[in-house]
Amino acid sequence: MADDADIANDYINNEVSRALARLRQATSATPGLKFCAECEEEIPEARRKLGFKLCVQCAEESERRNSLFANY
Ligand SMILES: [Zn+2]
Repeated sequence: MADDADIANDYINNEVSRALARLRQATSATPGLKFCAECEEEIPEARRKLGFKLCVQCAEESERRNSLFANY
């Protein structure tokens, strides 16, 4: 009987520590680049967290270029 409880406890402990590890990774890892891929300007952290690899200026620039190409 005690064995079942132990197994359940182990299972819960595992789940909790795995969830914590996932959470820690999600908050520490930033998918975007710290510096702009084009002009090497520093990218604000809020923007980095969204996964951007370009600063605001370069993103706008590349968007403009993309929409130009889309017209042809
Ligand atoms: Zn840039």
